[in-house]
Amino acid sequence: MFKHDIIIQKYGGTSVGSPERIKAVAQRVAQSAKLYKHVVVVVSAMGDTTDDLIGLAKTMSSSPSSREYDQLISTGENISASLLAIGLQEIGVPAISLTGPQAGVKTENIYSRAKILRVDTGRIKCELSEGQVVVVAGFQGATENGDVATIGRGGSDTSAVVLAAALGAEECEIYTDVDGVYTTDPRLISDATKLTEISYDEMLELASLGAKVLHPRSVECAKENQIILHVRSSFSQEEGTRVKEDSQMEIQRAVTGITLNQEEAKIAILKVPDQPGIAGKLFTRLADVNINVDMIIQSVEQDHINNITFTVNADDLAQAAAITQAVADELGAKGVVTDDNIAKLSIVGVGMISKAGIAAQMFEVLGAKGINIQLISTSEIKISCVIEKQFAKEALVLLHSAFELDQKIGSPS
Ligand code: ADP
Ligand code: ASP
Ligand code: MG
Repeated sequence: MFKHDIIIQKYGGTSVGSPERIKAVAQRVAQSAKLYKHVVVVVSAMGDTTDDLIGLAKTMSSSPSSREYDQLISTGENISASLLAIGLQEIGVPAISLTGPQAGVKTENIYSRAKILRVDTGRIKCELSEGQVVVVAGFQGATENGDVATIGRGGSDTSAVVLAAALGAEECEIYTDVDGVYTTDPRLISDATKLTEISYDEMLELASLGAKVLHPRSVECAKENQIILHVRSSFSQEEGTRVKEDSQMEIQRAVTGITLNQEEAKIAILKVPDQPGIAGKLFTRLADVNINVDMIIQSVEQDHINNITFTVNADDLAQAAAITQAVADELGAKGVVTDDNIAKLSIVGVGMISKAGIAAQMFEVLGAKGINIQLISTSEIKISCVIEKQFAKEALVLLHSAFELDQKIGSPS
């Protein structure tokens, strides 16, 4: 029988959430081993294990050392990798589990959000050539001196795509608890529709804006290496969504998907003098402590006085507000106000480039329901609006139907 060369499959937390689920995954992997010469499987930790491990670390210290923290929270993946290898052996499939470091995954010398630098594939290739299915623990790699570093929450997707690139695979299957990428989170809107395909650029925007179905860096890496991502369910045999170079869909509708992010907070520094260097000073201080700033709006008041408003992750609010207050004091600004009662809605679509009036339509839909827009930011293929949190779900539903995302492509509107 003709066999394809190599496939990389990644199974997420719910997919390996119990021994029964791991046995089901083993059956699926066994089927793939009949179709492919080489199979590499990347696993996440079982269910909520990573959250539980983080909780355990916090019971010992409110600020555990970053090395020990990573050493601890990486272990969830080791458990699921070994269990899957045992499950495969049990049904007669030769298999071996490898931790990230054993698999040759090398990271930067940073903990908790290290980037993967490269994969030394010698060990994996050796095991594959001996006919083993190789099960790799996702979410982790080794720093230069061999310590374990983790690569950011949700990072197992990226582990899988990096391995696919290093091993020359054309496709990487991401098995999760939904059967593909939808027009919005199907757990928020039941009439969200599944996309057959989506372009890398659109998927990257959606993932970066909070659609957690894929880790943003996994999409970036797939695009760089032209690897097709097939996002599908581990609970069914259905075809999922293929993330690939520009798809046909972009020309069919202007908006491809919508995200809702309720995890940001807003900070405004009021009445600062309109002088060169002020924004540089504020945002350098924030960057120095690794606080990511998302939207930034400067509004000019009269007499060379400005207000600067920006958003940060809600977890960073207290620290960011303290830094902003210190800068405000130095500059003689009038004050600093914060607000975590906000939600960011973003519409994403390559089709926006060629279709005028999409932003206007978004603003009108919100305006018609009396929903005030506090901040706006745009890129070529996305428009984001910050609104009050209490309107978040209503606004998402309104926009989803206004842009006809509840209708399958090709079906009459
Ligand atoms: P895994 O543990 O398999 O990595 P995640 O929980 O990280 O799974 O990602 C899958 C979840 O992503 C889904 O359960 C769904 O609620 C959420 N999600 C958010 N936006 C989307 C979207 N546009 N399409 C599909 N799922 C989405
Ligand atoms: N287990 C890790 C997390 O919960 C990585 C992942 O699931 O991708 O973030
Ligand atoms: Mg995930």
